[in-house]
Amino acid sequence: MAGSSSGKKPVARRIHKGRVGGCLTVFVIIFILISTLINGCTKKHNLQKQKETSETSVSTTVNDHSSETETKKSEYIIIVDPGHGGEDVGSANGDRLEKVDNLRYASVVYEELLNREGIKPIITRQSNDTYMNNEDRAKFANDAGADLYLALHRNKSDDPTANGLEIWVQQDATVIDDVLGYKLKNELTKVGVQNDRGVQHGYTNDKQNNFQIIEWTDMTACIIELGFISNDEDNRLFDAHYKDYAKAIADAVESLCKEGYLDKVKEPQ
Ligand SMILES: [Zn+2]
Repeated sequence: MAGSSSGKKPVARRIHKGRVGGCLTVFVIIFILISTLINGCTKKHNLQKQKETSETSVSTTVNDHSSETETKKSEYIIIVDPGHGGEDVGSANGDRLEKVDNLRYASVVYEELLNREGIKPIITRQSNDTYMNNEDRAKFANDAGADLYLALHRNKSDDPTANGLEIWVQQDATVIDDVLGYKLKNELTKVGVQNDRGVQHGYTNDKQNNFQIIEWTDMTACIIELGFISNDEDNRLFDAHYKDYAKAIADAVESLCKEGYLDKVKEPQ
């Protein structure tokens, strides 16, 4: 009996031990379950957070993008600027003066653009006696709230064999500057030039600077150097085709407007 009684105690202890063990096991299982749940929740929370973060960054990106909205304009103001004028004759070749050549083709560009839908051209001078410096020209364009500025010139070199078409845009050219440059170049070379000298960025021999007129105007701007006044063949081409060149310039400008390149308007922040 003692054996049995003494045998009972261990049983009871075993039972107790077993209960404790069972409780511990249940506790451990519950603990693991709770830990797993908490872990799961934390992970889920973190995932949610990550998702929210990525959604925020996506929506931020979208918002950043949408700060530049494209609104189709009903009218584009284009400044047609025949370079030089008055006492500033520009380059010369004998009696031939650049200011006169510039006005010759600029007048036709202006007339052409007047007939294009949704385009309002403004010419900076209509007489060869009118003098304007570059500051006046830039202010004129900025005050007009122009969308595009075309500075129309002819080139010159001490080397009489230098020839061809050159187009200048700003040194840190945007896509719009480059598209403008290439559209002009493509249309003008279709008419025919001796030499395509390409779309150039910056300033002659200095890619870090801009021509004054490009630097001081607030809108997309370029300079067209339509052949060399110092080259006889370029002059012959100019005299034979200046109206076609002018029409080509108007075609390039019209296409730039129609394709929406001048529509990007920054919303006030
Ligand atoms: Zn010039």
